[in-house]
Amino acid sequence: MRTQLFKNYIGGQWVSAESVSTNRNPSNINDIVGEFSQADLGQTKAAIQAARDAFPAWAMFPMQERSNILARASAEILARKDELGQLLAREEGKTLPEAIGEVARAGQIFGFFAGEVLRMAGEKLPSVRAGVDVEITREPLGVIGIITPWNFPIAIPAWKIAPALAYGNTVVFKPAELVPASAWALVDILVRAGLPAGVLNLVMGRGSVVGEEIVTSREVDGVSFTGSVATGQSIAAKVVARMGKVQLEMGGKNPLVITDDADLDVAVECAIQGSYFSTGQRCTASSRLIVTPGIHDRFVQAMQARLSAVKVGDALATGTDIGPVVDQNQLETDLSYINIGVEEGARLLHGGERLQRQHDGFYLSPALFVDADNTMRIAREEIFGPVAAVIRANDYEHALELANDTQFGLCAGIVTTSLKLATHFKRHAQAGMVMVNLATAGVDYHVPFGGRKGSSYGPREQGRYAAEFYTTVKTAYVNA
Ligand code: NDP
Repeated sequence: MRTQLFKNYIGGQWVSAESVSTNRNPSNINDIVGEFSQADLGQTKAAIQAARDAFPAWAMFPMQERSNILARASAEILARKDELGQLLAREEGKTLPEAIGEVARAGQIFGFFAGEVLRMAGEKLPSVRAGVDVEITREPLGVIGIITPWNFPIAIPAWKIAPALAYGNTVVFKPAELVPASAWALVDILVRAGLPAGVLNLVMGRGSVVGEEIVTSREVDGVSFTGSVATGQSIAAKVVARMGKVQLEMGGKNPLVITDDADLDVAVECAIQGSYFSTGQRCTASSRLIVTPGIHDRFVQAMQARLSAVKVGDALATGTDIGPVVDQNQLETDLSYINIGVEEGARLLHGGERLQRQHDGFYLSPALFVDADNTMRIAREEIFGPVAAVIRANDYEHALELANDTQFGLCAGIVTTSLKLATHFKRHAQAGMVMVNLATAGVDYHVPFGGRKGSSYGPREQGRYAAEFYTTVKTAYVNA
């Protein structure tokens, strides 16, 4: 059977390119998901120009029609969530239920922003000068460059594209090379939902070519990026150098604090879910499990028992708890960090081994380190795999200090039955998001998402806070 070729979408046309990339299933590397056109520099420039040309009309497009387009896209994504979930699990490797959940999330996001189109409220204030009124309104920013990572192939594009379009911007979208299929399906749905030519452009291709042009082009007014810290920092420097607006979501080294009074079952479920589900490939994953002495040994024992029952396998197979790692590079990174942990003196209590399954894929057993300390590299650097380290704290105060002792600040969790400790932790955790008796990963779509310190830069994403990035404020003075 001939492998299907998927094209880029530029200025209202599906266009092929000279080179293609082959998208493979990480659960079975002999399974080819499709071949995807790789945009070159010229096509990227054409996409940016198309977005620029389409901007004035889209900024003034009738609100009801703009809302209808997003609502139609939402309805189709939700109606096709099982099929799109299969595609997503096949190209990225998260389990089928996780993938279907992610697709549903993308559909809900478009539904939310279909409503937000109609809620573009401004403010009207009296002036300090007699007879003058002041009006504050929000206007679209212009052309938005959207650069997304591989770990949420449809939800992250959705949570950037939906607000960009809702607030009247046009978009040049570059998905991660590893996961173009879900991105392509999303763009196909939006195009058929009725977007005018040029409003949304898809340029699949290399970060160093396509991404670089989006970042450096003066025709791109804002860049929204999710990915690694190193890439994010270099993107920010380049966008700011040309006075563009930039928003970054980067890594995490998220702590889950477990105190003596915690419910043990809740603690174990939060740790398993937050550290290992989605193969630990979430920026909100809890990779540091900081545990106080009264519960430490019971927690470690219960984690080991629970991990022994976790099933690693083909993302599409029924009963799989954890799918494969996304690719060979990430697998090598994970394995090298497991070695580093052992060399640093942490004790590998469970997993950390490459596994063979029916098909050739990138399977890794979930790794749990104990006797780790917060100065070790496995406790300081984002691994982005199914690897967690238990760190013993002297007491709650020490646990909080360790939780905050990191260059990151995306999410911080606590498992406790004490209202006093939960309240204290909420106030003092240096993170953009705090979870109480919940896993650090797993967020709602209608509220702000983002972190502090090295994790995020610029305005928050999602919910109505997304307007901070995707709009610019105008203050008008009227002498009536
Ligand atoms: P990157 O930061 O390298 O890539 C993210 C996106 O940026 C991709 O679309 C990538 O394109 C693009 N990109 C790469 N280089 C440039 C550039 N010079 N200019 C503009 N865009 C560029 O992350 P990866 O996906 O390669 O993952 C590497 C590591 O990043 C992971 O191991 C993990 O630690 C971390 N990561 C963190 C995430 C988070 O949410 N915190 C999400 C994903 C990864 P291309 O795919 O073509 O390289």
